[in-house]
Amino acid sequence: MSCHHLIRIKQTLNNGVSKRKERENSMSDESGQIQCVCGRLIKEPSEYKVVYIKKENREIDILCPNDTCYLRELGFIQFTLEDEKPKILKATFYSPFVTWNTARLGKERATELLRVHLQQLIRRNVDWNKIVEETKKQIERERVAAAASSSSPTPDLEVG
Ligand SMILES: [Zn+2]
Repeated sequence: MSCHHLIRIKQTLNNGVSKRKERENSMSDESGQIQCVCGRLIKEPSEYKVVYIKKENREIDILCPNDTCYLRELGFIQFTLEDEKPKILKATFYSPFVTWNTARLGKERATELLRVHLQQLIRRNVDWNKIVEETKKQIERERVAAAASSSSPTPDLEVG
């Protein structure tokens, strides 16, 4: 038997072991579940917290359900209003969260699950009526602020 042969046999054995490990992992409770870096499993998109603080950016934050999470912000949904209807510009998860799940579940599975989570968040878990109302108020505030700054007194004109 040549050296090459031995190496090939070793590789085959190793492959067998790692495949068995993968199968064991996928049979555990955490299989196929998205997880935050802090350890919190997120089985349903409804578990995320969605908060609308960055109104000037029309940006909705997606937060970890775990209040003591050190990462907190997992992603965001950015939109604009068109005829008072929300139009999604961008919806994404941040890379630490994505990388963590890619490492656990594999790129394909993680990408697919995270895509579904984003879709469901947008469709079911964001209170768009409330968001639109708050955004309209924000737009009004921005309009007033812009008007105030452009109508600041110009002393030159008042002279004479
Ligand atoms: Zn977390």
